[in-house]
Amino acid sequence: MRSGSSNSKTISFDRNDFRAAKCEKCGTKIYPASLLDAHAMRHEQRDRWFNDELRKLQHTFSHMRDLA
Ligand SMILES: [Zn+2]
Repeated sequence: MRSGSSNSKTISFDRNDFRAAKCEKCGTKIYPASLLDAHAMRHEQRDRWFNDELRKLQHTFSHMRDLA
């Protein structure tokens, strides 16, 4: 039994889209798809940096409230 007829539709879908990957975080289309890893890593680093800065800020604010 063959079930390849449905697969050929996906391949002819869009040649430009075929190798592009979509970032699930920001919805950006990454081309070529191999760059998605680097892109996702940048998200991760930015998130980590943001969380660190946020924590520092919250720490500072809580201390300011203590001094006031
Ligand atoms: Zn992204």
